[in-house]
Amino acid sequence: MEERKAIIEKHLNQPSEWNCLACECLHCAASVGFVVGAKNDKGEDGIRLGSITCVPSLYPKSIYEEALALQPLYNELYHKISHDHQYMKQALSSAVAGDEFTARLWKTYETVYHEGFGNPLSLGIFRSDYMYQLMDGKFSLAQIELNTIASSMAMLSTQAQQVHRYLGDILPKEIVDASKIPENNSIITIANGIIRAWELYGQKQAVVLIVMSEGENNFADIRRIQYEIVKLNREVKVVARTAEAMRTCASKDDDKRLIVDGKEVALVYFRTYYSPDQYSDESDWGVRLIIEQSKAMKCPSIQYQLAGSKKIQQDLARPGVVERFLDTEKSRRIRTSFVGLYSLEENPDIIEKALQSPENFVLKPQREGGGNNFYGEDIVPKLKEICGTSEMDAYILMDRVRPPAQYNCKLTGSDTSNSNCTCTSTVSELGIYGTVIGSSDEIIENNTAGYLLRTKAEKTNEGGFYVGHSSIDTPQLLTDRDMISFLSNKSA
Ligand code: ADP
Ligand code: MG
Repeated sequence: MEERKAIIEKHLNQPSEWNCLACECLHCAASVGFVVGAKNDKGEDGIRLGSITCVPSLYPKSIYEEALALQPLYNELYHKISHDHQYMKQALSSAVAGDEFTARLWKTYETVYHEGFGNPLSLGIFRSDYMYQLMDGKFSLAQIELNTIASSMAMLSTQAQQVHRYLGDILPKEIVDASKIPENNSIITIANGIIRAWELYGQKQAVVLIVMSEGENNFADIRRIQYEIVKLNREVKVVARTAEAMRTCASKDDDKRLIVDGKEVALVYFRTYYSPDQYSDESDWGVRLIIEQSKAMKCPSIQYQLAGSKKIQQDLARPGVVERFLDTEKSRRIRTSFVGLYSLEENPDIIEKALQSPENFVLKPQREGGGNNFYGEDIVPKLKEICGTSEMDAYILMDRVRPPAQYNCKLTGSDTSNSNCTCTSTVSELGIYGTVIGSSDEIIENNTAGYLLRTKAEKTNEGGFYVGHSSIDTPQLLTDRDMISFLSNKSA
């Protein structure tokens, strides 16, 4: 570990036969379009480079492969959950009672469930996020959450991989070995999932509609999927609209067709509508209902979105729940990636433990999109505030995962000055994408769709990329033996 750190530092800012490492990383990232939206000083929309690690992080191959292998199982599990009305009703009842936003989603779901879903098929583009742990000389997966709506960063992870592969050409093999960086097919597999959904709709003139937020800062990540769809199949027309524009341009005709600016929509791909602030007023809920009632396919449908609630993730950890949906072997395998998850209403002993040792837990509300969880000492006053109120039902407690740390540097912004290039002890979170299409009767498509690696300072709690907590990274895979040897400070 020390040796690797010394070589990275040596190359970081010193010119050599090629540019310094930070400059090479910056130039390559710029050349592949590794960009995000950013506001300028006047608050106007602009573009900047995303944050990227200067070198790949070393990562246990066994853990990476197990996460890939689990994805079809997770796709199947969440697909089945979302079509089990009785289960969803019971598992989400406390969250519906304790959280207004979940209640609103639930109301929309119940309306379409009782009317009959406008389209029996749903498309899921999921991403299951994991950290890993090292205990008693063994690595294990620890699922952080499973995202069923607006699973982002497929473009950024694909481009980061390209940057790191290039760095493999110029750096010593001990630092970057491109032969150990796995291929990332996330953009193509996600685009193919959307094309398949469009085909299943069966109307060649109908379009794919992407709905995003006004001033979206991950617009490039979203639109890259659009460009890939068109590249793969020129027959598919893709249009993008903001949630704001949808209020006036979307309607449903007598035949339940969704019409946007005069065009019939085959599939709605949501890159918004996952958090309460994305519904400005009643009209947005009205639009969401029209979409759900229409015969357009949805990615995700409201039932997929609800299945991705943190409350469901917690409920799955209870005995027998995964087994309700999957056979014994699949359930066993899925369970190897769980860490302790607890409801507050049933676990006074865990609440007591969390009050005594908050550093061992994360307290999570029913929210997506980052910045909502409580960590460490902040857990104590929040727990005291909510315990005994109905709000408590909407929170879960989770064991805090402590992944092994390693040294890395991140580059943020538009130049390689010291303020933009920071080096520290880091930990990583691996995301695996999956695509699934199916109805209550069958699963038609079930695919694993590439990876995302986000790396952040070991001391940082949150993992959000767009708000500057984490950087996009690439795994460089090592055998367990080499990885353990590296982490225990010997040269790997
Ligand atoms: P969100 O829906 O806001 O993305 P997450 O459950 O993914 O919520 O949590 C946000 C971040 O907090 C994660 O990316 C991770 O960095 C950190 N985190 C969440 N749960 C844990 C945990 N159990 N142990 C350690 N870190 C966690
Ligand atoms: Mg997350």
